[in-house]
Amino acid sequence: MDINADIKGLASRIQKAVATHPIPEVFHEISRELKEIFRADRLCLVLIREDKLSAIDYFVYTTHGNSFLPVGSVFSLEGSITGEILKTRNPVIVKDTTEGRYLTDSLLLKEDIRSRLGLPLFYGGEVIGALCMGSRMVGNFSEEHVAVWMKISPFISVVAENARLIQRLKDSSEELTKEINERKRMEEELKALNESLEQRVARRTAELAESEEKFRKISASAQDAIIMLDNEERVSYWNEAAEKMFDCSKEEAIGENLHKLIIPDRFRERHLKGFKIFQNTGHGPIIGKTIEVMALRKGGTEFPIELSLSGVQIKGKWNAIGIVRDITERKGAEEVLRRTVEERNDSIKEMKHLMDFSTLMREETRKDELIEHMAQVLKNTFAPDILAVLMLDKEKNVLDVALRDPPIPVDELLRAETILDPSLCRVMRTGHEHIVRDIHRDPSCSCLLYKIERGGYVCFPIIAGGATAGVVLMIKKKEDHWGSEERLRLVSTYVGMAAAALHRVQLMDITRRAAVTDSLTGVYNRRFFDEMLEKQMALARRHNEPLGLLIADLDHFKDFNDTCGHLAGDHLLQQVARILKNSIRSSDVLTRYGGEEFAIIMPTTDITGALDKAEKVRQGVESTNFDDVVPGQSFKMTISIGTASFPMHGTEYDTLVGAADKALYKAKRGGRNRVEKP
Ligand code: GH3
Ligand code: MG
Ligand code: MG
Repeated sequence: MDINADIKGLASRIQKAVATHPIPEVFHEISRELKEIFRADRLCLVLIREDKLSAIDYFVYTTHGNSFLPVGSVFSLEGSITGEILKTRNPVIVKDTTEGRYLTDSLLLKEDIRSRLGLPLFYGGEVIGALCMGSRMVGNFSEEHVAVWMKISPFISVVAENARLIQRLKDSSEELTKEINERKRMEEELKALNESLEQRVARRTAELAESEEKFRKISASAQDAIIMLDNEERVSYWNEAAEKMFDCSKEEAIGENLHKLIIPDRFRERHLKGFKIFQNTGHGPIIGKTIEVMALRKGGTEFPIELSLSGVQIKGKWNAIGIVRDITERKGAEEVLRRTVEERNDSIKEMKHLMDFSTLMREETRKDELIEHMAQVLKNTFAPDILAVLMLDKEKNVLDVALRDPPIPVDELLRAETILDPSLCRVMRTGHEHIVRDIHRDPSCSCLLYKIERGGYVCFPIIAGGATAGVVLMIKKKEDHWGSEERLRLVSTYVGMAAAALHRVQLMDITRRAAVTDSLTGVYNRRFFDEMLEKQMALARRHNEPLGLLIADLDHFKDFNDTCGHLAGDHLLQQVARILKNSIRSSDVLTRYGGEEFAIIMPTTDITGALDKAEKVRQGVESTNFDDVVPGQSFKMTISIGTASFPMHGTEYDTLVGAADKALYKAKRGGRNRVEKP
């Protein structure tokens, strides 16, 4: 076949078409002519896409429809004729499609096509696509076709490139459309979102307004002051309670520096330091805590508050919120409570001391020890500078200074007259205490000689068994020491307790005395004699000293009884006892040994001393006229005395008493009214 003849004309027609028609029409022309020349049944222009992995059936021309249609279906280059062309840059001739190669090429090429031809389209040295043809005849295409193609392909390539550009433009415009659509969709979504957001904002605003209203109500009705400070420490919120508490209106407070408003001067520096830290960090020494501090009212008065501080960040800056409670009342109640507890503790302590003192006093059995212990406790409890205890000596009716602390001379402390006449002492006389709270103010007592420059003194009576047994004197050279009623009450309690104990000791003494005293004569009884002789012998033995013993027996007393009666005998016995008592030393012990017998124990007395004493006693009785035993009558009485001494006549009770008895018997036998030794 001779196809070369038409080629020249074809080339010039293509050029003309390119210049005047749109590309699809140009291809329509080319296809129609090539179909004729190549006797192909179908024609397809394939453009390789930029990814070089796929291609697009840009234009297909079929014999049946003699129509052209841009197809635009995309297929993979893998396993296609176009793919082979891209790789080899050479035309591909498939003489018989039954050989089964290039199965993945454009669908249009697959139908009843028996042979195929693929021709490369170059542009700028690059394969940009292929022109593929198919024929229903086996072996329709040959090298000859290829040669023809080589001549015309440069013209077609230009058109193909243009088509490719257009396609690309189309692609990108599609992309653009897609993008625009996407954007539109997004815009719509955004709009929807916006709408819902607006709704939410509206709802939130309503909620906020409601919560704000709630907050306003809470804040207005709150008992606590609610204060907010901005980052510059200016008040930005000040509720009604704050107005009342600090006596400062909202108008006055808002915008003011807090420290100028409510913080007392002395705390300002510390406060400013703390706030500086807070300003930058949101932290501070009292943030997140509740503390008790003093605050200032507008009038300048201070009052205690409880302050809780916290920080919030607003627009990146720290603001402080303070909840303030006026705790004046609470503090007052706390103070009352504290004082009550303290007082209670004090009185518990006091009670304990008193109980200890009571125990101490209860255990005392001796007057002198009791006085000493009382004085010790008074000294410890009331810290006087001078303490003295004066006790009444009932027998002598004088005051006995039982204790002085410190031991200043008695004549510097008290007037001698008072000592000798206790009734001169007001306290002794009245049984009432005498308090001189301040030496310069209160009338003081003339009994006291001791002079003090300042302070005062107290005199408390020791009232035992209803009678004033003595006085406790305490001097304190310090103002106001005796001003406390509480202290005076306590002194009175202590002295009262000691007095009760003293009364008990006195009663005990009386009882004890009664047990060892002979009721008729008032001298010690036989029981006491037995005890005392044993004791005195033990002492004499220990000190290696002598001990004298007399046993005296009235002569013919039975006769006196018989003549004058038993009662007169009793009286006579009492008088004899008095005579004996007056003839002995205070260290000697006189006892009623039996019915009309008396015994005298004489410590540190040997037999000579004992005999002397016995003689004196004998003479004393002998020389006495017993006038008042029987009214109107006078009697004479004599006594016989036996003497013995330790250790000379006996070293044990029995032997010594036996020796004295023997001597007495000797005196009786010797004619009575005489003194004998064993
Ligand atoms: P003598 O010189 O030998 O001692 O003779 P006497 O009479 O004193 O001796 P006697 O022992 O025989 O008598 C003692 C008397 O003392 C007997 C008793 O009546 C009397 N008597 C003893 N106790 C009391 C007393 O308490 N009161 C009185 N009134 N008489 C007493
Ligand atoms: Mg006798
Ligand atoms: Mg006798």
